[in-house]
Amino acid sequence: MKKLFTIIVCKLLKFAGGLIGKGSSLPGQIALKLCPDILSRINLPDYIVAVTGSNGKTSTVEMIAHILQESGKTVAWNKEGSNQIEGVTTLILGSCTLFGNVKSDILLIESDERFAKYTFKYITPTHYVITNLYRDQLTRNGHPEWVYNAIKDSIHPETQLILNADDPMVSCFGYGRDDVIWFGVGDIESDTTEFCGVYNDGAYCPNCKAPMTYTKYHYDHIGNYKCTSCGHKRNDTEYTVTKSNLDKGEITINGKYNISLSLKSLYNVYNILAAFTVASIVGIDKDSIAKHLSNYVLKNFRVVTFELGSRKGTLVTSKHENSISYNQSLSLAASDKDKCDVLIIVDAISRKYFTGDVSWLWDINFDLLQSDNVKNIVLSGTYCYDLATRFSFSDVSADKIKIIESIESAVDYLDNDSKEKIYVITCFSDKEKFLGKVKVD
Ligand SMILES: [Zn+2]
Repeated sequence: MKKLFTIIVCKLLKFAGGLIGKGSSLPGQIALKLCPDILSRINLPDYIVAVTGSNGKTSTVEMIAHILQESGKTVAWNKEGSNQIEGVTTLILGSCTLFGNVKSDILLIESDERFAKYTFKYITPTHYVITNLYRDQLTRNGHPEWVYNAIKDSIHPETQLILNADDPMVSCFGYGRDDVIWFGVGDIESDTTEFCGVYNDGAYCPNCKAPMTYTKYHYDHIGNYKCTSCGHKRNDTEYTVTKSNLDKGEITINGKYNISLSLKSLYNVYNILAAFTVASIVGIDKDSIAKHLSNYVLKNFRVVTFELGSRKGTLVTSKHENSISYNQSLSLAASDKDKCDVLIIVDAISRKYFTGDVSWLWDINFDLLQSDNVKNIVLSGTYCYDLATRFSFSDVSADKIKIIESIESAVDYLDNDSKEKIYVITCFSDKEKFLGKVKVD
């Protein structure tokens, strides 16, 4: 009876919340108060796929859901992105029958990396994707090593791990397990043999702390690494990007599955590869996976194209307090064949909590904007002077830089007759402040 009552309450609250546009974690929160172990009382589908990691969770999960649904499978997934135990509870109780049976073929869960251990106390994923571990929201999350330990506590012995082989710390989750499925990127044209970032989280082995060597870096500490002491090294991969041409927006997986990219970033390539891997394991035909992923445009609005007067632009949602996310966005602007202006907005650092910490700006590789195609750089928002100070320690020419604190004035400044594209680089917390002032495509 308690189970039935909890499910009904959760469904009603979810319905009521939907009517008034409220968030999706409250119904789950109340359900967990009524019945703390409700998740262990639900009959779940044969496939329970979980995805966690610092970056790429939401995009990866959306692409997996897209492929599965296009292939005729039913999927229950947290598309609202509420990824802590309360949101996952809302998802599961909202998707099950009154008797507690989830009827979908697959339960697909995006999980916050720090809170996964609470969610997966009651649910045992059959498959668990870990995308990467970066410095991300240090004021809230702590260092990646700490997050590593938090994720480790969420892994069940019987779960099949699906790991990014190119990330040295993520690879450590595979120790002592023989059923890991590895994915990774082979050679790509932008590989470097020297480290190019501002700080190197791959300098030392996460297993034994001895120095590590790399034969190539794809970006930051992601690449082909080997420890000089304990032998920790990149594993051979079962799912591999064997060919890529980011300029053209084409990749090939496992030598024969060609995918065209709607977003030509290496980040996106990893998310696509993770989604390809999961869909293959779930039994979808690989040719049709490639077809569904080709030119797929993410619906979670991470990349938004817009018009400002006669100018065309792209807003790339990056994560404040996450330097690798910024580096990827800056690379996208810097590698554009066309000339462009770049607007960087740091106004509210987080939408969830207050912090005035700007130390993460010092981890970002702003030197990428030295590229000749980048003409003007506008710094805007409350923290524009912190950005300006950071830029003064970069090799980017000061002539390129303009500081305009008011976002509205920055938009006015860019609303001119110039033919150049505009790239806007900012976070979830600030993007609407810009998008509200332009014509979104
Ligand atoms: Zn080692």
